[in-house]
Amino acid sequence: MLHITDLRNTTYDPATVMPRAKLEISDASVIVEPILDKVKNGGAEAVLELTEQFDKVRPASLQVPAAALDQALVELDDDVRAALEESIRRARAVHAAQLPPNSVVPLGDGAAVENHWVPIQRVGLYVPGGRAVYPSSVIMNVVPAQAAGVPGIAITSPPQADFNGLPHPTILAACKLLGIEEVYATGGAQAIAMLALGVDDADGNQVCAPVDLITGPGNVYVAAAKQAFFGQVGIDAVAGPSEILVLADETANPAWVAADLISQSEHDPLAASVLVTTSMDFAESVVAQIEAQVPGAVLEDQIREALTGQQSGALVVDTMDEAIAVTNAIATEHLEIQTSDNDAVLANITHAGAIFMGPYAPVPLGDYSAGSNHVLPTSGTARFSSGLNTVSFLRLQQRIRYDETGLQSLSEGIQTLAASEGLHAHAAAIAQRFNGM
Ligand code: NAD
Repeated sequence: MLHITDLRNTTYDPATVMPRAKLEISDASVIVEPILDKVKNGGAEAVLELTEQFDKVRPASLQVPAAALDQALVELDDDVRAALEESIRRARAVHAAQLPPNSVVPLGDGAAVENHWVPIQRVGLYVPGGRAVYPSSVIMNVVPAQAAGVPGIAITSPPQADFNGLPHPTILAACKLLGIEEVYATGGAQAIAMLALGVDDADGNQVCAPVDLITGPGNVYVAAAKQAFFGQVGIDAVAGPSEILVLADETANPAWVAADLISQSEHDPLAASVLVTTSMDFAESVVAQIEAQVPGAVLEDQIREALTGQQSGALVVDTMDEAIAVTNAIATEHLEIQTSDNDAVLANITHAGAIFMGPYAPVPLGDYSAGSNHVLPTSGTARFSSGLNTVSFLRLQQRIRYDETGLQSLSEGIQTLAASEGLHAHAAAIAQRFNGM
């Protein structure tokens, strides 16, 4: 089911050896554009109509009533509540530690620059709810925003026909556990448009105020809508389908590696599950384990589609150095390292969204409860971006404090630089302060 590519004794380009899923955001953009226009022109009523069209249910109100949030928490299964609370506790500890310190940098007499981190004022967090529902994504979006001190947090998630047009009750309960009161029952591109533009009802009353930043994973329509609004609002990323790469040698447990590869393929038919190994015997054992474990899986069809897609496969290379080079070139969202010397391998890894060390740190640990964030860079964007974190919700605001002495010491130099750029008014603004005007 998982295709093995034997790269031993061959020359190949590590950057292209494993193609990615064919995901055409531009195709989705064509579908999404009229949706965004409808919301722009039709406000809250348009969001409700589009929700009914795509989710086959019309919520009684766009904003989830407070009583529904209360009720969801009361009815939450005790074991689920305990597991959510433990995930929240660990995520809060990790994200609090990401808060960068403010600093004052003295630069001579009467001269200092302050680096000051300030929270974004209002954020919109998207929690997916199409093929599956993700209460864990509530935690992964809300915890860093709260750690950053964001005062306004709105969450939106698709309504579920089985739950009277409300988002899934576990999502609502997770919101309540985290202290979030502003929750909307809409998904897809219309939800992103609602957050970016803000919407009013037919009488002109505001239903949802516009946000400054939109974060959270979602399908291709969500990604295309986020991309369309980038610049007007901030976004965390244009997320593609989930990816796992397991870098393993013959010392790893093939049954466990197979289980980890299968678990990611459950997310999406376009999800990528990749094994990179130095051992053909090990690759064959993993494939045999996949053949044994997939039949009868709850989401078997989806898993098969993902594992047989061009984006999934096992690559067998000659040396661990080669395995590391291929891994870095792929720049996967999730990387598991399961080798005889994991730290030696780690020392040479440059690109990966999050790195899971050893056989007892599988990706599902990070999906739910490790304390790390599960909103991670996909599609090779781990080369230049990070997973969602506390700093994603902060802005660095520099405060420049120079007095007369401080400015005077730089006056000549600034005027020289300004003149060299032909910006004489800049030079004059400095000079005026010292020539008695
Ligand atoms: P979703 O909430 O992203 O999308 C559902 C919405 O898509 C619906 O509400 C509907 O409005 C819209 N939609 C569906 N079909 C449409 C169409 N034909 N035209 C226009 N709009 C349409 O839920 P999903 O579809 O399950 O996707 C969730 C994605 O998020 C998956 O790819 C999953 O792997 C990913 N995910 C990633 C992470 C992460 O951290 N990386 C976490 C959770 C989920």
